[in-house]
Amino acid sequence: MNLPFLPFTRPAIDEETIADVIAVLKGGWITTGPKVAALEAALSEYLGGRAVRSMTSATGGMEMALKALGVGPGDEVIVPAMTFAASANVVERLGARAVFVDVELRSRNATPAAMEAALTARTKVLMPVHFSGLSVDMDGMLELAARQGLRVMEDAAHAIGTRYKGRLIGSFGDVASFSFHANKNMTTIEGGALSYADPALTRPLERERFHGIVKDAAGNIDIETAGGKFNLTDVAAAVGLGQLRRLEDFNRRRELLASRYAARLEAHVDPEWLPLPGDGHSWHMYPLLAPLTQLGMTRDAFIAAMRERGIGLGIHYPCVPAMRYYRGRGWNPADFPNAARIGAQTVSLPLFPAMADSDVDRVCDALLELLPR
Ligand SMILES: *Cc1c(COP(=O)(O)O)cnc(C)c1O
Repeated sequence: MNLPFLPFTRPAIDEETIADVIAVLKGGWITTGPKVAALEAALSEYLGGRAVRSMTSATGGMEMALKALGVGPGDEVIVPAMTFAASANVVERLGARAVFVDVELRSRNATPAAMEAALTARTKVLMPVHFSGLSVDMDGMLELAARQGLRVMEDAAHAIGTRYKGRLIGSFGDVASFSFHANKNMTTIEGGALSYADPALTRPLERERFHGIVKDAAGNIDIETAGGKFNLTDVAAAVGLGQLRRLEDFNRRRELLASRYAARLEAHVDPEWLPLPGDGHSWHMYPLLAPLTQLGMTRDAFIAAMRERGIGLGIHYPCVPAMRYYRGRGWNPADFPNAARIGAQTVSLPLFPAMADSDVDRVCDALLELLPR
């Protein structure tokens, strides 16, 4: 019996969305236009009426947002040591310094206390990451920021649909950045959006997004700043609108699959291996601390053994301070023991809405088969 290869993730684009994309392509207006406006309006409505601007990636969005918050040379932004490198890269690209803090082992999230311990007189922004869609302690983050006169820019790349105490991430706080990369909980192929509280951010974000252009009433343009180019296309927005319609269903399915993993694995493995569940979790991923000692294998060998059994695993993520650039900036992964351990041991099990329950069983069977009894 040869089952098809099960990747660690796969987007789910329905026929209605494909028809919408075709209609945009045939309509004559394919770049930023009514579909982008409709996607931003729909996201704003989903997020309780917040200001929302879309862009070509979350990475671009985070860079724009930090710049709009005034981050530049001499400033520091606190970033978890366990995240995708983009969180730190955007800080460094602005000439500021990414200051790493360790995360908790099971939640993969940084605590407000860890961030507080890393504050200096140069700290300007806290950048919590809602790892795999589990919210950080937002009350604690916002309280710390208010007490210290800092801003909070959430890297919410995993957290579209995540709830904190019943409230959607991005419906409160200063700024949240969502990613719509093909692997995320909803996609525009590539893309992202910022949701923010302060309407004064709109002007700098729009300038930065599109060449720094401002127009007068007659439509004559002027250049207000040396802006960039990060505008989403209507083709991409049509994909996003189709995804947003199904986001809550997608995330419910993700949650069921994650509970099935936990139910299947709990009895066999140390609970510390399993990701921390929680109310409002959007289950962007199912990251496991691979029991490499018990398996008697390196992670590479384990990934290869699962691949032989038709199962794709991901690595999310290597510890960021361990990367060559950040080592060169003076960071040492040994100072972030949890992030370093996660970075060395983590594997992401397949998790995407179109998976069948039997796919979860197949992954668990393959994994448990490799474990010596
Ligand atoms: C995917 C991701 C990003 C970057 O998103 P893009 O839209 O690909 O730029 C940033 N941070 C985290 C945590 C991510 O997972």
